[in-house]
Amino acid sequence: MGEHRKLLMIPGPVEVSPAVREAHDGPPPGHQAPELVEAFGQLLERMRILWKAPAGAQPFVVAGSGTLAMEMAAANLFEPGERALVVDTGYFSGRMAEILRRVGAEVTVEAAEPGRAVALEAVEAALDRVQPKAVFVTHVDTSTGVRMNAQAVGALARARGALTVVDGVCATAAEALSMEDGSIDLHLTGSQKALGLPAGLALFVASARAMEVRARRRSGPPPLYLDFASWRPIMEAYEARQKSYFATPATNLVQAAAVGTREIVEDRFEGVDGVDARVARHGHVACAFEAAWQVYGLRHLAEVPEARGHTLSALRYPEGIGPELLGHVAVHGVTVAGGLHPRLKGDYFRVGHMGWCTTQGALLERTVEAVGQGLCAAGHAVDVDAARAAFRGTFDA
Ligand code: PMP
Repeated sequence: MGEHRKLLMIPGPVEVSPAVREAHDGPPPGHQAPELVEAFGQLLERMRILWKAPAGAQPFVVAGSGTLAMEMAAANLFEPGERALVVDTGYFSGRMAEILRRVGAEVTVEAAEPGRAVALEAVEAALDRVQPKAVFVTHVDTSTGVRMNAQAVGALARARGALTVVDGVCATAAEALSMEDGSIDLHLTGSQKALGLPAGLALFVASARAMEVRARRRSGPPPLYLDFASWRPIMEAYEARQKSYFATPATNLVQAAAVGTREIVEDRFEGVDGVDARVARHGHVACAFEAAWQVYGLRHLAEVPEARGHTLSALRYPEGIGPELLGHVAVHGVTVAGGLHPRLKGDYFRVGHMGWCTTQGALLERTVEAVGQGLCAAGHAVDVDAARAAFRGTFDA
């Protein structure tokens, strides 16, 4: 990695490992080439492991961004007039609600103030009141850094016969979630986040129940590219190491994804393996950043620690500083992001820390340093060396 290249520490896209880059940058494989068929098959098998998918669940990988997976969830699971409940913790819950309205769903939104999670009691009450076909929850909202207990939402919905769709775009492979107990029916993500891949793939696993809902649909099929039924035979063929074609897959990205998911499956940290190790790393890294942020006197938008995801820090600007901070940090070689929540946009900035970079202490420490130097340049004097030491002390612990 070139020393002088700016580090991309936004909440996606993220830095990727040298092996992922190499796999991506090779000559384009054909979609029926034996090496591509093998890579696709491996990717789907590894998704079953990372998602903790039960028997009968179906993994999908489709060229597009995370929003495509959201569209596919809505288009396959909903028919006009059916009720949906959206647990709203920020910007991306609003997008999900809009997608659902456009497929004709009757949408009820249960929202929290920006920076807060929705209480599980409120979710439970809304489930009882609305009796939705499905509840939609964002595991970590990228606009606020708020984390919901998606597993618990799934259990509440399951007990009432409703489906649960989890937007894991800012959480999958970084926050604990399992489909094993049948409480989650569709868990979706995009490649550019904690999976540590370049942007361009929508990835999700649908439960047997979700596949049944599509199969029993009465109001005509969803748009062709969005239809589970278009893609299922393709995914089955690749997993059986057979050639197939419906629409051209992003072949370079699939090769990169086979490598990136292998890195996660083979990870080991604090005595645990695979995705559990990756999840533990994200918690560890969030803690180490927290030690540095405290030295800088920075406060999270999500004030309650339990309601805070581990994949990013959404931090309020110190008094007298605003979005000009981003430019000052960039001068020191690191790109961080501004605010995104429409109501608070100018009040905070975001540092992404997800995916492969969680294994790279030196890159993370460079981020601590650049943010500190940026703060100093913006007129907020902080002790950069002390923050680096606090980071290192926690990271190495
Ligand atoms: N949901 C969440 C939580 C996200 O963070 C994002 C993207 N930042 C999306 C959905 C939409 O994904 P994409 O930009 O890949 O379409």
